[in-house]
Amino acid sequence: MSLFADLPEACRANVPLAPLTWFGIGGPAEWLIEPRTEDELATVVHRCRESGLQVRFLGLGANLLVGDDGVRGAVIRLSQPAFMTWQRDGDRIEAGGGAHLTRLVKAAVAEGLSGLEALAGIPGTVGGGIRMNCGGKFGEIGSAVERVRVILPDGRAVERRASELGFAYRRSNLGGAIVVSATFRLSPMEPQRLHDRYMEIWEFKSRTQPPLEDCSAGCIFKNPAQGPSAGKLIDDLGLKGLSVGGAAVSDRHANFIVARPGARAADIVRLIEQIEQRVFDATGVRLVREVEVW
Ligand SMILES: Cc1cc2nc3c(=O)[nH]c(=O)nc-3n(C[C@H](O)[C@H](O)[C@H](O)COP(=O)(O)OP(=O)(O)OC[C@H]3O[C@@H](n4cnc5c(N)ncnc54)[C@H](O)[C@@H]3O)c2cc1C
Repeated sequence: MSLFADLPEACRANVPLAPLTWFGIGGPAEWLIEPRTEDELATVVHRCRESGLQVRFLGLGANLLVGDDGVRGAVIRLSQPAFMTWQRDGDRIEAGGGAHLTRLVKAAVAEGLSGLEALAGIPGTVGGGIRMNCGGKFGEIGSAVERVRVILPDGRAVERRASELGFAYRRSNLGGAIVVSATFRLSPMEPQRLHDRYMEIWEFKSRTQPPLEDCSAGCIFKNPAQGPSAGKLIDDLGLKGLSVGGAAVSDRHANFIVARPGARAADIVRLIEQIEQRVFDATGVRLVREVEVW
């Protein structure tokens, strides 16, 4: 009998992951698990641990490249209603780990609550955003987080305060814990002013990055701690437009790779490797990947 035979609605075998990622590329998951409740989530996490099945978490796949052969083990996705809503409580918003960031940010702005508008135009979920401490020149998600509720690899639920999450540039210390929900501490702001600020950030992103509809995973590399940004290093070498198979360096932003129809994950990996080598040969800088490759 299969490990999840008693949970047929939540656990499906051999499910293609490509449609669940922003790149739109990659093979299937051995198991795709979409729990309906926190108890069900805790049960599957615990069961995977007991049986030695590798567990991965998937948000909107906006920072991920799934390999052409897919992945063994379980991929858990908080896509059911229990994990996708949010509620306001005074100056706080509590949001499910699977809530879509773009919708949450818009809702906070509409409520006149400031603190998330810096994330305008960043695709992803609350859980994926917190894991990555997503953000940019206008701010990062970590500075608005008050606490999170997570399920640990052994299935226990615990609360963690923001100060315990090790937020730094595009990282947190969540390890094998999955974010079930997060509480954001926000500040009231005059709604029109807040909306104008949100639009300013949104327009900046729209001008400087490929359109959201393009198949990409945001910035491929982290910016080095010192010196020019990763995008500038790549751009200065004239690599915009460089391509391998169906993968190409974006003409709009050199730190983005866009996948054209028919692109394979292997094309993207080879292009990433070429960029890394050429930047290293020309500048001595070893670029560090921001995109996660499964
Ligand atoms: C067009 C475009 C623009 C972008 N611009 C930006 C930007 O300006 N700034 C920026 O920081 N990023 C940007 N990104 C990258 C991406 O939007 C962020 O990294 C986002 O936080 C990814 O969220 P996700 O839910 O899609 O996570 P995924 O890509 O699905 O996963 C990312 C990581 O989070 C983990 N994870 C997912 N869900 C959970 C959970 N519930 N609990 C714990 N871990 C979890 C995954 O296992 C993985 O390790 C951009 C991407 C695109 C496509």
